[in-house]
Amino acid sequence: MWQEEQSGGNLTRTCGDCSLCCTVLRVDELGKLGGSDCVHQNRRGPGCSIHPRRPGICRAYRCLWLSGGLEAGDRPDRLGAVLDVVAEGPLIRLEIRERRPGCFDRSERLVSIADEYRESMPVRITDVAEVLNPSRGYRLLLPKGEEHRVKGDWTEIHKPGETVQRRRLPLLERIVRRISLAVQRVRLRRAMQRMPPTE
Ligand code: SF4
Ligand code: SF4
Repeated sequence: MWQEEQSGGNLTRTCGDCSLCCTVLRVDELGKLGGSDCVHQNRRGPGCSIHPRRPGICRAYRCLWLSGGLEAGDRPDRLGAVLDVVAEGPLIRLEIRERRPGCFDRSERLVSIADEYRESMPVRITDVAEVLNPSRGYRLLLPKGEEHRVKGDWTEIHKPGETVQRRRLPLLERIVRRISLAVQRVRLRRAMQRMPPTE
């Protein structure tokens, strides 16, 4: 998260006026939920008021732009989204976390970045609305214009030139999903109770 020192991967980049990840991302060490401003964000400008003693995750985090993976003009506060290449086991995807719902569709540049990546890895788009709802929806962009819109147990499958298909998760997966959601809801409630008050 917000870094004033230069990134090892790209010696010319610093966060500068951007502090979008300090709002969009979750920081467990601070009890901060994704989508809420961090209480340590500077009030009169970008930056972190506890920079020398910020949590380890904040020291380690570098978004795709800061790591040099996007063009110089693509800083997240200008794009309206924080981008990362995320690995889950052997699978990787481009994660686009919108500052607000609809930022992706309004940005030609974000759409063009997603078009470039979706041919080689899935692109997942999430937003920070309904952050306390662990079952909130997301979009998955796949090669050849295919898109999955996932909401609850249902997925809408859009393919160019074809009728939209709707699929429901099989029963066993629905049961597993509900158990997992119940656990996440408890965790989120606890995280909310631990969150420090904002100024
Ligand atoms: S989103 Fe990227 S550029 Fe912006 S503050 Fe975070 S790490 Fe820095
Ligand atoms: S502690 Fe500092 S770097 Fe970490 S999220 Fe908060 S403002 Fe950002």
